[in-house]
Amino acid sequence: MNIQENYNNIKKQLPSNVELVTVSKTHPVSAIQEVYDLGQKVFGENKVQELVEKHPQLPQDIQWHLIGHLQTNKVKYIAEFIDTIQSVDSEKLLNEINKEARKHSRKIKVLLQVKIAEEDTKFGLQIEEAKSLFQKFIDGEFPNIEITGLMGMATFTEDKNQVKKEFEKLKKFFDNLNTNKPLQTLSMGMSDDFPIAIECGANSVRVGSAIFGRRDYSI
Ligand SMILES: *Cc1c(COP(=O)(O)O)cnc(C)c1O
Repeated sequence: MNIQENYNNIKKQLPSNVELVTVSKTHPVSAIQEVYDLGQKVFGENKVQELVEKHPQLPQDIQWHLIGHLQTNKVKYIAEFIDTIQSVDSEKLLNEINKEARKHSRKIKVLLQVKIAEEDTKFGLQIEEAKSLFQKFIDGEFPNIEITGLMGMATFTEDKNQVKKEFEKLKKFFDNLNTNKPLQTLSMGMSDDFPIAIECGANSVRVGSAIFGRRDYSI
């Protein structure tokens, strides 16, 4: 299987309302260009330094998503061009993104990353924290940010029922965020679990290794 076949194979499995974020971390610019040439515009990276190196070498209409844990002191390196930051897990980070977005007179889209996995290695907000941050956004505290949705990662396990339970929990929260400004994006699911995520209501999936092949080192 090559990248093109992998990509077409994944696209075939996605309902038309489900967005594909192609996760290109650790893979070279040439591989990203290959997928771009097939019509893909949305790519995800998890490290600021890697993203900042790749960004100038690739077409400028790529919509870059940051999907990995982001330190506040690194927001400034991506604020000018990042489309969406999917991994917002603190109020401090929201404040920093808001500040840096304002410097560039733009609005940065973000997803609140909610902790749904049982493993304690995963970053993310508790549901109550996410709720209160979203309320502050609704109240106008972050004028240079648009919170467009939620992101979650399930436990890394063979137990499909557990993965399903975790995705269902996030979907329920997504539906229940009781506001006058409904959220658009529910980002759940990776190469191994995206079909379950879609079953549970995801409308955006983050797929890397099923397209680019295995990464040389684990992230
Ligand atoms: C690496 C990564 C992915 C993609 O993982 P694959 O298993 O390669 O599809 C998705 N989301 C996040 C947050 C990641 O770090």
